[in-house]
Amino acid sequence: MLTNDLLSQWDRESFLHPSTAAGAHARGETPARIIEGGQGVRIRDRDGRESLDGFAGLYCVNVGYGRPEIAEAIAEQARKLAYYHAYAGHGSEAAIELAHMVLDRAPDHMSKVYFGLSGSDANETNVKLIWYAMNATGRPAKKKIISRWRGYHGSGLMTGSLTGLELFHNAFDLPLNPILHTEAPYFYRRPDPAMSEEAFSTYCAEKLDALIRAEGADTVAAFIGEPILGTGGIVPPPAGYWEKIQAVLAEHDVLLIADEVVTGFGRLGSMFGSDHYGMKPDLITIAKGLTSAYAPLSGSILSQRLFEMVAKGTDDMGPLGHGWTYSAHPLCAAAGVANLKLIDELKIVENARDTGAVFQRLLHEAFDGHPIVGEVRGEGLMAAVEFVKDPGTRTFFDASEKVGARVAAAALERGLIARAMPQGDILGMAPPLCLTPAEAEEMVGIARAAADDVAKALGAA
Ligand code: PMP
Repeated sequence: MLTNDLLSQWDRESFLHPSTAAGAHARGETPARIIEGGQGVRIRDRDGRESLDGFAGLYCVNVGYGRPEIAEAIAEQARKLAYYHAYAGHGSEAAIELAHMVLDRAPDHMSKVYFGLSGSDANETNVKLIWYAMNATGRPAKKKIISRWRGYHGSGLMTGSLTGLELFHNAFDLPLNPILHTEAPYFYRRPDPAMSEEAFSTYCAEKLDALIRAEGADTVAAFIGEPILGTGGIVPPPAGYWEKIQAVLAEHDVLLIADEVVTGFGRLGSMFGSDHYGMKPDLITIAKGLTSAYAPLSGSILSQRLFEMVAKGTDDMGPLGHGWTYSAHPLCAAAGVANLKLIDELKIVENARDTGAVFQRLLHEAFDGHPIVGEVRGEGLMAAVEFVKDPGTRTFFDASEKVGARVAAAALERGLIARAMPQGDILGMAPPLCLTPAEAEEMVGIARAAADDVAKALGAA
């Protein structure tokens, strides 16, 4: 039996963690936490400490921890066929059934799904499919992709470029050349406080239109956006935003990618964020909620229009030269099938809508008017509290105060995992979608107590 001390020593000696201060961790200056188990919305570490997981891992364990139905589906698939590839028309029962189930749930105009393993590789696939489609339809100059500042689309070279956050760009010489960024639909930080939501949406659409015109519409292939900004601060779109953006894209014949890695399969209280906000994308990126993270699996869902462009390409140029060894991996597909069945049986999407409404109301009751809170915002089971020095003027805290990180640390101390979002003093919450109203109350109560702790320490209580 490996002791906690030995594991901790090996961890610091051997393991380079993502999104971690590497040197400090190796020197033992940052906390190491070894997670051992979970049930429902709670996880347990090897020291026996339990936490309410207010972020569902990384907004992915949507049906909650410890579901035997999914574990058994993976085990059964492993006994029958652990692996075969999906190249040259091969497949497994699980992968084919899952493709059918995904299309059954996706918006009507969607036509095919390409499976990958992570949200990052699915967005990489999306860019390649779009470039391929432009070549196949005789438009080789139409290749630029426009993303938004504060968008999050992955950590690869191309997808890290699509991401619009400083932490993911500056030290890596990103973004790469064909990627451009436009205004974030961040109403709280609008340029003029007198602007209405509709006016700010018009402003964002005009900025996009101006960028496409300046670049030349014949050089811009696609626009990518999360229905609601996630890692960039959990920011719902202002009223009219997607309608106005889509009008600009239609005018310039620019494709739309809806990155639904977080919002796909229920988080906003609708099956897809595209349904929720009236988006009609040419590609939908899915990952996290597809398997509730019981196994790594992602997908690119193509519209009929895009599929026809790709099919023309393969008729003219030969088979699609794009594939991963683990595309449509049978174990992951089996997890996906079991997960989607569970989502139906447990009415997970309806729960995200109904318990989500309770969660949002409780957050407003707890935080509206709080001395260090500028805004409470969210949709379904996804929410953020933004901390500011002066709510009246929306003045930021000095970054060195690390207010967001301190609130998250205080919450953890009190038994709640919430996430300090990477840019700004923003506490994010996105719990498992099986959350009950009583658990929502417990979470919000702890988050409020944590904010009070920090306000007191800052002398603002
Ligand atoms: N897109 C969005 C909207 C995401 O939130 C994420 C991950 N948080 C990704 C893409 C990348 O997914 P992955 O980490 O699985 O590569």
